[in-house]
Amino acid sequence: MLYVVGIGPGGLDMMTYQARAAIEEADVIVGYKTYTHLVKALVGDKPVLKTGMCKEIERCQAALEMAQSGKTVALISSGDSGIYGMAGLILEMVTKHSWHVEVKVIPGMTASIAAGSVLGAPLMHDFCHISLSDLLTPWEVIEKRIIVAAEADFVTCFYNPRSRGREGHLKQAFELMSPYKDPQTPVGIVKEAGRRKEAKWITTFGDMDFELVDMRTLVIVGNQSTYVEQGLMVTPRGYQL
Ligand code: SAH
Repeated sequence: MLYVVGIGPGGLDMMTYQARAAIEEADVIVGYKTYTHLVKALVGDKPVLKTGMCKEIERCQAALEMAQSGKTVALISSGDSGIYGMAGLILEMVTKHSWHVEVKVIPGMTASIAAGSVLGAPLMHDFCHISLSDLLTPWEVIEKRIIVAAEADFVTCFYNPRSRGREGHLKQAFELMSPYKDPQTPVGIVKEAGRRKEAKWITTFGDMDFELVDMRTLVIVGNQSTYVEQGLMVTPRGYQL
């Protein structure tokens, strides 16, 4: 059995009971170091196969091999494993190759949901997720999605907003959105949501400070109706008050 577990954005208190149970039931845990660290208390002295970044295929292969040999394996992803996580890759491998492994995907709280609650209620209306990582997606495709999301006035959550070698992506994304965004549009920045070092900033589209953003940060750009009051970022649903 292979559980593909979304552990949520931070510590144990943001995990589902199902995710906890899968980790407790597993004989072996597989995951990227930072995430195995976040669930250390549940793992106890079980064997943990840690792999670094950019070793996703090897990590999934190892998890599938162990599960096929009869072990119960928990492959852990941060947030939700089906959102820029490991669930898709595992299921691609299982559906396209002849693995004989039962796979169960266990959902987790994705970063945008955690960040939204830290900022107030910015995701109250239609919103979308855009990853600015062009490691697996051509930049032109990402550009197109940024533009149409802005034109359609979606609240937009940017995942993978900045990293070494890709410092300029978020700034480029803002430039692409600028024809459709009022400079006063609220922007929320949340670093390490749900973790010990959680930090947040609320600014505007025109005053955005890109230096605040790193790869552990989620950026939420509001829609035309999003406002900030008493330090809270709110997107109205449309109720008449
Ligand atoms: N599967 C994860 C996303 C992985 S992509 C999920 O569902 O949340 C990695 C990106 O997610 C990071 O670059 C960052 O933009 C965002 N992210 C993940 N955890 C976060 C957290 N605790 N706080 C803020 N952003 C986070």
